[in-house]
Amino acid sequence: MSLVNVTDLTVEFGSLRAVDGLSFTLEQGAALALVGESGSGKSTVASALLGLHRGTGARVAGTVEVAGTDVADASDDELRRLRGAKAAMVFQDPLSSLDPYYAIGDQIAEVYRVHTRASRRAARARAVEVLDRVGIPDAARRSRSRPHEFSGGMRQRALIAMALSCEPDLLIADEPTTALDVTVQAQILDLLHTLREETGMGLLLVTHDVGVAAESVDDVLVMRHGRAVERGPVAAVLAAPSEAYTRELLDAVP
Ligand code: ADP
Ligand code: MG
Repeated sequence: MSLVNVTDLTVEFGSLRAVDGLSFTLEQGAALALVGESGSGKSTVASALLGLHRGTGARVAGTVEVAGTDVADASDDELRRLRGAKAAMVFQDPLSSLDPYYAIGDQIAEVYRVHTRASRRAARARAVEVLDRVGIPDAARRSRSRPHEFSGGMRQRALIAMALSCEPDLLIADEPTTALDVTVQAQILDLLHTLREETGMGLLLVTHDVGVAAESVDDVLVMRHGRAVERGPVAAVLAAPSEAYTRELLDAVP
Protein backbone atom coordinates (compact mmCIF):
# COMPACT_ATOMS: atom_id res chain seq x y z
CA MET A 1 0.00 0.00 0.00
CA SER A 2 1.27 3.48 -0.87
CA LEU A 3 1.85 5.91 1.97
CA VAL A 4 -0.01 8.65 0.09
CA ASN A 5 -2.52 8.05 -2.66
CA VAL A 6 -4.18 11.12 -4.18
CA THR A 7 -6.67 10.59 -7.00
CA ASP A 8 -8.25 13.35 -9.02
CA LEU A 9 -8.07 15.87 -6.18
CA THR A 10 -9.84 19.16 -6.79
CA VAL A 11 -10.02 21.94 -4.21
CA GLU A 12 -12.06 25.09 -4.81
CA PHE A 13 -12.23 28.27 -2.76
CA GLY A 14 -15.40 29.88 -4.05
CA SER A 15 -14.90 30.32 -7.78
CA LEU A 16 -11.13 29.74 -7.57
CA ARG A 17 -9.97 26.23 -8.45
CA ALA A 18 -6.68 25.99 -6.53
CA VAL A 19 -6.12 22.28 -7.22
CA ASP A 20 -7.48 20.85 -10.43
CA GLY A 21 -7.71 17.07 -10.85
CA LEU A 22 -4.34 16.22 -9.30
CA SER A 23 -3.25 12.59 -8.87
CA PHE A 24 -0.03 11.23 -7.36
CA THR A 25 1.31 8.57 -5.06
CA LEU A 26 4.13 8.52 -2.56
CA GLU A 27 5.53 5.15 -1.51
CA GLN A 28 6.43 4.23 2.09
CA GLY A 29 9.70 5.90 3.04
CA ALA A 30 10.06 7.79 -0.25
CA ALA A 31 10.58 11.53 -0.68
CA LEU A 32 8.63 13.63 -3.15
CA ALA A 33 8.82 17.38 -3.71
CA LEU A 34 5.88 19.43 -4.91
CA VAL A 35 7.42 22.37 -6.74
CA GLY A 36 5.82 25.24 -8.58
CA GLU A 37 5.60 29.00 -8.46
CA SER A 38 3.77 30.76 -5.67
CA GLY A 39 0.01 30.24 -5.98
CA SER A 40 0.26 26.98 -7.93
CA GLY A 41 -1.67 25.07 -5.25
CA LYS A 42 1.11 23.29 -3.35
CA SER A 43 0.08 24.26 0.18
CA THR A 44 -3.55 23.53 -0.65
CA VAL A 45 -2.53 19.96 -1.50
CA ALA A 46 -0.50 19.66 1.72
CA SER A 47 -3.51 20.79 3.75
CA ALA A 48 -5.78 18.35 1.94
CA LEU A 49 -3.55 15.45 3.02
CA LEU A 50 -4.40 16.21 6.65
CA GLY A 51 -8.05 17.03 6.03
CA LEU A 52 -7.46 20.65 6.98
CA HIS A 53 -10.04 21.97 4.49
CA ARG A 54 -12.82 20.31 6.45
CA GLY A 55 -15.34 22.76 7.76
CA THR A 56 -13.63 25.75 6.10
CA GLY A 57 -16.04 26.20 3.19
CA ALA A 58 -13.50 24.95 0.65
CA ARG A 59 -14.97 22.39 -1.76
CA VAL A 60 -12.90 19.22 -1.97
CA ALA A 61 -13.47 16.40 -4.48
CA GLY A 62 -11.48 13.27 -5.31
CA THR A 63 -9.86 10.83 -2.91
CA VAL A 64 -6.96 11.30 -0.54
CA GLU A 65 -5.53 8.35 1.39
CA VAL A 66 -2.69 8.85 3.84
CA ALA A 67 -1.17 5.94 5.81
CA GLY A 68 -4.30 3.88 5.28
CA THR A 69 -6.74 6.65 6.27
CA ASP A 70 -9.30 7.83 3.74
CA VAL A 71 -9.27 11.50 4.65
CA ALA A 72 -12.75 12.35 3.32
CA ASP A 73 -14.39 9.47 5.22
CA ALA A 74 -12.35 9.68 8.40
CA SER A 75 -14.11 10.24 11.72
CA ASP A 76 -12.87 13.05 13.99
CA ASP A 77 -10.95 10.44 16.00
CA GLU A 78 -9.32 9.03 12.90
CA LEU A 79 -8.36 12.53 11.75
CA ARG A 80 -6.77 13.21 15.13
CA ARG A 81 -4.71 10.04 14.80
CA LEU A 82 -3.76 11.00 11.27
CA ARG A 83 -2.58 14.47 12.27
CA GLY A 84 0.53 14.11 14.34
CA ALA A 85 0.70 10.38 14.90
CA LYS A 86 0.66 9.21 11.26
CA ALA A 87 1.50 12.40 9.42
CA ALA A 88 2.98 15.58 10.83
CA MET A 89 3.47 18.94 9.18
CA VAL A 90 6.03 21.71 9.57
CA PHE A 91 5.55 25.15 8.07
CA GLN A 92 7.67 27.97 6.72
CA ASP A 93 7.42 30.16 9.79
CA PRO A 94 8.12 28.24 13.01
CA LEU A 95 6.97 31.19 15.12
CA SER A 96 3.44 30.84 13.80
CA SER A 97 3.34 27.26 15.10
CA LEU A 98 4.84 27.99 18.53
CA ASP A 99 3.35 29.80 21.48
CA PRO A 100 5.67 32.68 22.50
CA TYR A 101 4.87 32.35 26.23
CA TYR A 102 5.68 28.69 26.81
CA ALA A 103 8.93 26.74 26.93
CA ILE A 104 9.64 24.88 23.73
CA GLY A 105 10.07 21.58 25.57
CA ASP A 106 6.65 22.00 27.21
CA GLN A 107 5.02 22.64 23.84
CA ILE A 108 6.55 19.51 22.35
CA ALA A 109 5.58 17.51 25.45
CA GLU A 110 2.00 18.76 25.16
CA VAL A 111 1.69 17.67 21.53
CA TYR A 112 3.18 14.30 22.44
CA ARG A 113 0.75 13.88 25.36
CA VAL A 114 -2.29 14.67 23.21
CA HIS A 115 -1.37 11.85 20.84
CA THR A 116 0.03 9.26 23.22
CA ARG A 117 -1.55 9.99 26.62
CA ALA A 118 1.91 9.65 28.11
CA SER A 119 2.51 10.99 31.63
CA ARG A 120 3.78 14.56 31.95
CA ARG A 121 7.15 13.27 33.05
CA ALA A 122 7.49 10.85 30.14
CA ALA A 123 6.37 13.54 27.69
CA ARG A 124 8.99 15.99 28.99
CA ALA A 125 11.65 13.31 28.61
CA ARG A 126 10.46 12.63 25.08
CA ALA A 127 10.69 16.36 24.26
CA VAL A 128 14.32 16.51 25.40
CA GLU A 129 15.08 13.32 23.47
CA VAL A 130 13.70 14.67 20.17
CA LEU A 131 15.32 18.10 20.65
CA ASP A 132 18.62 16.32 21.11
CA ARG A 133 17.91 14.21 18.03
CA VAL A 134 17.43 17.28 15.82
CA GLY A 135 20.72 18.74 17.01
CA ILE A 136 19.76 21.24 19.71
CA PRO A 137 22.87 21.45 21.90
CA ASP A 138 22.37 20.96 25.63
CA ALA A 139 18.80 19.90 24.91
CA ALA A 140 17.68 19.37 28.53
CA ARG A 141 18.53 22.96 29.41
CA ARG A 142 17.47 24.52 26.11
CA SER A 143 14.10 22.75 26.26
CA ARG A 144 13.19 25.33 28.92
CA SER A 145 13.78 28.22 26.48
CA ARG A 146 10.90 30.10 24.92
CA PRO A 147 10.74 30.42 21.12
CA HIS A 148 12.25 33.93 20.96
CA GLU A 149 15.38 32.63 22.71
CA PHE A 150 16.08 30.34 19.73
CA SER A 151 17.53 31.40 16.38
CA GLY A 152 15.39 30.88 13.27
CA GLY A 153 17.22 27.69 12.39
CA MET A 154 16.88 26.32 15.92
CA ARG A 155 13.18 27.13 15.93
CA GLN A 156 12.76 25.16 12.71
CA ARG A 157 14.70 22.28 14.30
CA ALA A 158 12.39 22.47 17.31
CA LEU A 159 9.35 22.30 15.07
CA ILE A 160 10.78 19.29 13.29
CA ALA A 161 11.38 17.75 16.73
CA MET A 162 7.73 18.36 17.58
CA ALA A 163 6.68 16.70 14.33
CA LEU A 164 8.96 13.73 15.02
CA SER A 165 7.86 13.20 18.59
CA CYS A 166 5.05 10.80 17.63
CA GLU A 167 7.12 8.94 15.04
CA PRO A 168 4.96 9.79 12.02
CA ASP A 169 5.03 7.66 8.86
CA LEU A 170 4.96 10.88 6.81
CA LEU A 171 6.48 14.30 7.33
CA ILE A 172 4.96 17.12 5.31
CA ALA A 173 7.30 20.10 5.19
CA ASP A 174 5.78 23.21 3.60
CA GLU A 175 8.58 25.62 2.58
CA PRO A 176 10.59 24.58 5.66
CA THR A 177 13.69 26.54 4.64
CA THR A 178 12.19 29.54 2.84
CA ALA A 179 12.53 31.88 5.82
CA LEU A 180 16.13 30.83 6.58
CA ASP A 181 19.44 32.09 5.26
CA VAL A 182 21.33 29.85 2.88
CA THR A 183 23.74 28.22 5.36
CA VAL A 184 20.97 27.36 7.78
CA GLN A 185 18.82 26.15 4.87
CA ALA A 186 21.47 23.59 3.99
CA GLN A 187 21.66 22.44 7.63
CA ILE A 188 17.91 21.90 7.83
CA LEU A 189 17.86 19.99 4.52
CA ASP A 190 20.72 17.81 5.83
CA LEU A 191 18.76 17.19 9.00
CA LEU A 192 15.65 16.14 7.07
CA HIS A 193 17.79 13.78 5.01
CA THR A 194 19.40 12.19 8.09
CA LEU A 195 16.08 11.81 9.87
CA ARG A 196 14.57 10.11 6.86
CA GLU A 197 17.41 7.62 6.78
CA GLU A 198 17.15 6.97 10.50
CA THR A 199 13.39 6.67 10.77
CA GLY A 200 12.28 5.43 7.34
CA MET A 201 9.51 8.04 7.28
CA GLY A 202 8.22 9.40 3.97
CA LEU A 203 8.71 13.07 3.11
CA LEU A 204 6.51 15.39 1.12
CA LEU A 205 8.52 18.56 0.62
CA VAL A 206 6.63 21.60 -0.62
CA THR A 207 8.86 24.27 -2.11
CA HIS A 208 8.91 26.98 -4.77
CA ASP A 209 12.68 26.48 -4.96
CA VAL A 210 13.75 23.77 -7.40
CA GLY A 211 17.27 23.95 -5.95
CA VAL A 212 15.95 22.90 -2.53
CA ALA A 213 14.06 20.00 -4.10
CA ALA A 214 17.14 18.86 -6.02
CA GLU A 215 19.09 18.41 -2.80
CA SER A 216 16.45 16.66 -0.77
CA VAL A 217 14.19 14.23 -2.62
CA ASP A 218 13.98 11.28 -5.00
CA ASP A 219 11.07 12.45 -7.12
CA VAL A 220 9.65 15.80 -8.10
CA LEU A 221 6.14 16.73 -9.15
CA VAL A 222 5.92 20.09 -10.89
CA MET A 223 2.64 21.95 -10.31
CA ARG A 224 1.13 24.77 -12.31
CA HIS A 225 -2.36 26.24 -11.83
CA GLY A 226 -3.30 23.30 -9.59
CA ARG A 227 -2.26 20.65 -12.11
CA ALA A 228 0.74 18.36 -12.43
CA VAL A 229 2.79 19.38 -15.46
CA GLU A 230 5.48 16.77 -15.00
CA ARG A 231 6.73 14.18 -12.58
CA GLY A 232 9.79 11.99 -12.35
CA PRO A 233 13.11 11.32 -10.65
CA VAL A 234 14.49 14.68 -9.61
CA ALA A 235 17.79 14.32 -11.48
CA ALA A 236 16.06 13.35 -14.73
CA VAL A 237 13.44 16.13 -14.58
CA LEU A 238 16.02 18.77 -13.76
CA ALA A 239 18.50 17.56 -16.36
CA ALA A 240 15.92 17.41 -19.14
CA PRO A 241 12.70 19.22 -18.26
CA SER A 242 10.01 18.40 -20.79
CA GLU A 243 7.96 21.50 -19.98
CA ALA A 244 8.90 25.12 -20.67
CA TYR A 245 7.43 25.99 -17.27
CA THR A 246 9.85 23.65 -15.47
CA ARG A 247 12.71 25.25 -17.39
CA GLU A 248 11.54 28.67 -16.18
CA LEU A 249 11.53 27.44 -12.59
CA LEU A 250 15.05 26.12 -13.07
CA ASP A 251 16.20 29.40 -14.55
CA ALA A 252 14.97 31.12 -11.40
CA VAL A 253 17.45 29.14 -9.27
CA PRO A 254 20.43 31.40 -8.49
P1 ADP B 1 1.22 27.72 -3.17
O1 ADP B 1 1.40 27.00 -1.87
O2 ADP B 1 1.66 26.92 -4.36
O3 ADP B 1 1.86 29.06 -3.16
P2 ADP B 1 -1.56 27.82 -2.40
O4 ADP B 1 -1.99 26.41 -2.34
O5 ADP B 1 -1.26 28.50 -1.11
O6 ADP B 1 -0.34 27.96 -3.41
O7 ADP B 1 -2.67 28.69 -3.14
C1 ADP B 1 -3.24 28.32 -4.38
C2 ADP B 1 -4.30 29.33 -4.73
O8 ADP B 1 -5.39 29.21 -3.82
C3 ADP B 1 -3.82 30.78 -4.63
O9 ADP B 1 -4.46 31.51 -5.65
C4 ADP B 1 -4.31 31.21 -3.25
O10 ADP B 1 -4.52 32.60 -3.21
C5 ADP B 1 -5.61 30.44 -3.13
N1 ADP B 1 -5.95 30.09 -1.73
C6 ADP B 1 -5.22 29.34 -0.90
N2 ADP B 1 -5.84 29.18 0.29
C7 ADP B 1 -7.00 29.87 0.20
C8 ADP B 1 -8.10 30.10 1.10
N3 ADP B 1 -8.12 29.56 2.32
N4 ADP B 1 -9.13 30.85 0.66
C9 ADP B 1 -9.12 31.38 -0.58
N5 ADP B 1 -8.13 31.20 -1.48
C10 ADP B 1 -7.07 30.45 -1.10
MG1 MG C 1 2.49 27.59 -0.16
